[in-house]
Amino acid sequence: MTNPLLADWDTPFKLAPFDTISDDDFAPAFEQALAAHKAEIAAIADHADAPSFANTIEALERAGAALDKVLSVFFSVAGADSNPAREALQRDFSPKLAAHSAEISANKALFARIKTLWEARESLALNAEQRRVLMLTHRGFVRGGAALEGDADARMKEIKGRLAVLGTEFTQNLLADERDWFMPLAEEDLEGLPGFAVDAARAAGAEKGAEGPVVTLSRSIIVPFLQFSPRRDLREKAFAAWAARGANGGETDNREIAAEILALREERAKLLGYGCFADYKLETEMAKTPEAVRSLLMEVWAPAKAQAEADAAVLTEMMHADGVNGDLAPWDWRYYAEKRRKAEHDLDEAALKPYLQLERMIAASFACATKLFGLEFKELDVPLYHEDCRAWEVTRGGDHVAVFIGDYFARGGKRSGAWCSAMRGQAKFPEVQGPVVINVCNFAKGEPALLSYDDARTLFHEFGHALHQMLSNVTYESISGTSVARDFVELPSQLYEHWLEVPEVLAEYATHAETGAPMPQEMLEKVLGAANFDQGFATVEYVASALVDLAFHEGAAPGDPMAKQAEVLAELGMPAAITMRHATPHFAHVFAGDGYSSGYYSYMWSEVMDADAFEAFEEAGDAFDPKTAKALEEHILSTGGSVEADALYTRFRGRLPGVEALLKGRGLVAG
Ligand SMILES: [Zn+2]
Repeated sequence: MTNPLLADWDTPFKLAPFDTISDDDFAPAFEQALAAHKAEIAAIADHADAPSFANTIEALERAGAALDKVLSVFFSVAGADSNPAREALQRDFSPKLAAHSAEISANKALFARIKTLWEARESLALNAEQRRVLMLTHRGFVRGGAALEGDADARMKEIKGRLAVLGTEFTQNLLADERDWFMPLAEEDLEGLPGFAVDAARAAGAEKGAEGPVVTLSRSIIVPFLQFSPRRDLREKAFAAWAARGANGGETDNREIAAEILALREERAKLLGYGCFADYKLETEMAKTPEAVRSLLMEVWAPAKAQAEADAAVLTEMMHADGVNGDLAPWDWRYYAEKRRKAEHDLDEAALKPYLQLERMIAASFACATKLFGLEFKELDVPLYHEDCRAWEVTRGGDHVAVFIGDYFARGGKRSGAWCSAMRGQAKFPEVQGPVVINVCNFAKGEPALLSYDDARTLFHEFGHALHQMLSNVTYESISGTSVARDFVELPSQLYEHWLEVPEVLAEYATHAETGAPMPQEMLEKVLGAANFDQGFATVEYVASALVDLAFHEGAAPGDPMAKQAEVLAELGMPAAITMRHATPHFAHVFAGDGYSSGYYSYMWSEVMDADAFEAFEEAGDAFDPKTAKALEEHILSTGGSVEADALYTRFRGRLPGVEALLKGRGLVAG
């Protein structure tokens, strides 16, 4: 019998036949599909004919179809419905996949063909999208080091290997520091903590084998403690330990590791012909240059710092009124900010929840897509990997667009957080292929299931990513949907969150689970006001981290990163009562791997764009303005990575994004 993962999927919409797949099928299917992809790559690299776009670039696009099928199913279940067998398979597959992709990028014969095509690009009669795919393929190989020869080639391999080891050490040291420290609390030390924080402290104590409740350095435990504990001495002690992660001396100290990583990254960029690592890293981003990143961050910095200083004065006064003299310290900020929040924006989560029914919020996210893009949703009855998963056929004007799968509830075996992935990406080559897109969330079950406001935003966020996949309209899968620059990929998702805040959407869909009454206006205003609270602090701690990250990777690598960090913060005039969101010795975004190195700015970059993009609808006077919606689809949601991100944005908005809308949205300038 054919392995069901490798068989032709003769199912509705060619969905994976989940009801016939068992865990035993994964390993043999994976080995067979991996071998097939290796053979396909070898056949392309060793092709007897001279390289052509069809026999090389299109052949690469076509290759790996079986592996894609196997992995799309495997990674869906490994992330959302894992078990020990699937975890073991993942430990087996991951290094094999990493080695496989390293092997492809180091294939000199393959690269020679791509290079020949790239050099002959003017004479190949390619259309714009083909030329883009050729450019991206060539650039990917070059950036991976495929063009290096001899000593440079050998050194690049050494650097990559060493960076992988250092990244892992950095992570493990951080985990060790977070695991080893805890602060026991006496019963009277629990005073002021809300029930959920007390429960978490007790659970953490039990886990650590302590006599009673403890504070640990896990963000979900220490942040509520800093927010709610009136014990200034304990807050100071806990904060000091939190701030010292990765910098405690001894075996788990990350400071020298950070210095070595930065030096190796600079060397790597120089081997590839770039002036510095930031130049190399930002080349593929929308921002493109370190100057563009710095200028955006500095435009946000000044008003954020001014707001933070004004807030610090208010909090200092509250502290003095509390009988504590002297300056506001970093371990005081969250505590007094929480008191202020309660006084100014008290929002009763328990009273809010009945208005946010999951079923109604799903309907709201669909209804906005109907109004904006004409999409219709019809629930399907098809076998999926878990009984909680639901699927819808998405159509427009009667034509099939996509299949959308929602897997909404938390359960053991699902990793935390929320995400969107395409089990099958949109493409027209080698044949038309409709996308199959999944949103995975971790909402609590209930009868009916009720969401927090944050949950509802998450639902809209992930659905925004899903629209980017479903409305994709390109030829080649490698550039379809969300295959765009990292600092552009959150635009559709963060933008979609804005429709949740459109008053007519909440008025229609945020209805009480028992009475059916719409959310009262006063509650709605509180919800929206609370979102802006303490943004001076949040922006300052974030932007400071982003600017330090940028300074580390621009120009020569600093021999002493801690000194460099101090220098950058001094130049900025960092407010004394705020620290970086992630200081260097525990800045995992930047040092645990390459993902966000000189890229930590991208969260804010996307936020600048989503605020600016939504303003296009506001300027048109209608959150569902058909002309603006059409432009959004035409220039951003349908184009994938077929055009540079800055050009796409300019086509949509007539200009590049400005920071004003973000500053207004965060309450950092008058709206
Ligand atoms: Zn996202």
